[in-house]
Amino acid sequence: MAEAYPWQDSLWQHLAGRSQHAHAYLLHGPQGIGKRALAERLMALLLCQHPVGLAACGQCKSCHLLAAGSHPDNYVLEPEEADKAIKVDQVRDLVSFVVQTAQLGGRKVVLIEPVESMNINAANALLKSLEEPSGNTVLLLVSHQPSRLLPTIKSRCVQQACPLPSRAMSLEWLAGALPDCTPEQREELLTLAAGSPLVAVSLQAQGVTEQRALVVDGVKKLLKQQASPTQLAEGWNAIPLLLLFDWFCDWSNLILRYQLTQDEEGLGLGDMRKVVQYLAQKSGQGKVLAVQDWILAQRQKVLSKANLNRVLLLEALLVSWAGLPGQA
Ligand SMILES: [Zn+2]
Repeated sequence: MAEAYPWQDSLWQHLAGRSQHAHAYLLHGPQGIGKRALAERLMALLLCQHPVGLAACGQCKSCHLLAAGSHPDNYVLEPEEADKAIKVDQVRDLVSFVVQTAQLGGRKVVLIEPVESMNINAANALLKSLEEPSGNTVLLLVSHQPSRLLPTIKSRCVQQACPLPSRAMSLEWLAGALPDCTPEQREELLTLAAGSPLVAVSLQAQGVTEQRALVVDGVKKLLKQQASPTQLAEGWNAIPLLLLFDWFCDWSNLILRYQLTQDEEGLGLGDMRKVVQYLAQKSGQGKVLAVQDWILAQRQKVLSKANLNRVLLLEALLVSWAGLPGQA
């Protein structure tokens, strides 16, 4: 049974409580807020033979088959490997499922996530199913980046935005989800997760708190010349490259902001505040901008999964970071 998150209450009433269901829904919003869980709940409800109010009963044949992963009338389409594309052949299989008759005599429900991982051929193949609705089939499309979808796909769905929960609500939920963390740690995790509570939980599971402490300590030693770029680059080999680039990118933003505003409220998380302030005072703005440009360009390469030499890239990052203090 998919988890019901408290910030989805009114969204759920709105979606599940419709008197008539659309042929296709597009659930979109930032990653890590439970869109998939919402889609799975809706799938269970739409398939259930005896719903209780707005919930699947959990007792009928359909609910049992769904729980066992052997329901003949549901179909989940996702990339075969994480972060890879959904292939056109996969969509063709889905299309032939959509035209079949429901085996249990009720609805058929299709869940696709993330929709943006379909390339243009795959998306075009899907369009057929969206254009020629088969009476009893409901498609649930989940997207973290709806701006990347074909307009023709979007226009054929009922679009449902799933907003980020408020910070207060996320923290309240995190208190239950991460009872062993201090309130400060939960605040920090939520900030690192850009406000997504489920991302905060997975960052915590990945040991991000410890990784962040290691990196912050390393940056401080680098600036005091107590550690070399090579040593640090090698010592950070377990930390995701994208996370490292995100942090350095964030710090360069904070430096530039402080140079412009001198606003001590805008120095970011406590662990780096003094360093950010120091670098803002000591570094020429042109230099910070140049380093930031470079970081953004490298971050793009990391995102596109280019074949990068990790240690060399980090060394280069740290050499330019260590060179920040000074004019020019
Ligand atoms: Zn049921």
